Amino acid sequence: MDTRQQALFIIFGGTGDLAKRKLYPSLFELYEKGFLKENFAVIGTARRPWTDEYFQEVVRKSVTVEGTSKEDADEFAQHFYYQSHNVNDTEHYVTLQKLAQRLDEKYSIGGNRLFYLAMSPRFFGTIAEHLKSQKIVTDNGYNRLIIEKPFGHDLPSARELNDSIGRYFAEDSVFRIDHYLGKEMIQNIAAVRFGNNLFRALWNNRYIDNIQITLSEALGVEERAGYYETAGALRDMVQNHILQIVSLLTMNMPASFTESDIRREKIYALKALQVYTPEQVEENFVRAQYAGTSGLKGYRQEEQIADDSKTETFVAGKLFVESENFSGVPIYIRTGKRLAKKTTRIDIVFKDVPKNIFGPEKLGKNILTIIVEPEGEIYLQMNVKKIGQNFGLQVQKLDLLQSENDDSPVPEAYEKLILDALRGDATNFTHWEEVAYSWKFVDAIRTAWDKKEGPLVEYTSGSMGPHEADDLLAHDGHKWVFSAED
Ligand code: NAD
Repeated sequence: MDTRQQALFIIFGGTGDLAKRKLYPSLFELYEKGFLKENFAVIGTARRPWTDEYFQEVVRKSVTVEGTSKEDADEFAQHFYYQSHNVNDTEHYVTLQKLAQRLDEKYSIGGNRLFYLAMSPRFFGTIAEHLKSQKIVTDNGYNRLIIEKPFGHDLPSARELNDSIGRYFAEDSVFRIDHYLGKEMIQNIAAVRFGNNLFRALWNNRYIDNIQITLSEALGVEERAGYYETAGALRDMVQNHILQIVSLLTMNMPASFTESDIRREKIYALKALQVYTPEQVEENFVRAQYAGTSGLKGYRQEEQIADDSKTETFVAGKLFVESENFSGVPIYIRTGKRLAKKTTRIDIVFKDVPKNIFGPEKLGKNILTIIVEPEGEIYLQMNVKKIGQNFGLQVQKLDLLQSENDDSPVPEAYEKLILDALRGDATNFTHWEEVAYSWKFVDAIRTAWDKKEGPLVEYTSGSMGPHEADDLLAHDGHKWVFSAED
């Protein structure tokens, strides 16, 4: 089967951080692996007046790491063209249309176009409109729009954004990136759940006691302070990445492993999220900011951050998916900056056996742990007999998978997602309805928080957040499986 793709990429925001750090290296990987060969070209557009030569130099640099073949990087970069472009200026789209047409012919691309909007969402509507009105979309190939987060900053703004795109691009040609969905271990959730009768049978409120999701970062806000101050952890991490993980963990088994069946189940799971009243928000959610230490600034002392900022750099919460299989299972989530360790992990804590027949011997919990980052790992914690004459028990971690023991290189999330978009497979992108239900849940929390007076609680840098996040679980007789000492 010929797996090579024919496509013209038009990257809006081609001089930006995302393009240089993620998009060009991912495209290069696809080139090296043979998915992109002769029949592709990339137009980078942004305001700066770069030449093609300069742009190609930037691309070469961004794809060159130790071991990169200089020849391949040169060949690859020759497929890149630059057009200085202000997205609000109609004239520029006329030039862009001509360039696109020329490259389509030069590289025999056949009209397939991918428009990657790697810039502020406030420009998405005008770009979509111009792409259509200036006939940059073709009628002899596909036209797909790939867009980056954040998708709105609440439900009304997300809906407005969606409408402004939807006027020109049908839902099935809009690919909303959530790069967590491109991560190997996130994609492993479906394999573990639906590929093993053992877990399929246990994956419900009869056997699962609670679920814990941790997305922690060790760094502070760094150079993203300006954006972060307007977003906060709830919007930046919970609305998208965490709720996507929740949907993958709690969705019913899809009828088939296809885009439409998976999406249907994910949407259903997000629709079943219990939306909280302000009193329930108070009871079930915790927000906080990192405090300064002798060497590091606290959040409110960072540049571009207001002295009285109420933007949270940490959030922990308990939520419920009120579906038949998950009703009553607390799902504890937490995410934040300046925490003990950078990690993304999921702990599924199973219920105790109905009766402990081993008398005074204590039984440990069965816990299935999926570590997404820094290294992909899956563990199952079990009770086994201690070797010896006497009968004693011990808790052992069964090592199900460690990616470092696997020789296959793990593709970068963006690389997988760009290839999916090239193939027209939107399974690992977020559907509008998923976005809408996620905002509905998050907006209820934000609204309750915005009405509250007074400063936020602070937590020590290098900890796993304020004690209130531990109390949330202790109140239910639980504790976080992962702690700062791990
Ligand atoms: P950036 O500020 O580095 O780049 C923005 C790009 O847009 C630049 O190329 C700039 O020249 C261009 N631009 C701005 N105004 C323009 C105009 N009027 N006309 C034409 N071009 C214009 O931003 P970034 O970090 O690359 O992020 C781009 C998008 O991706 C944002 O929506 C961001 O939220 C999202 N995102 C970025 C990252 C990341 O790692 N950088 C991660 C996830 C999501």
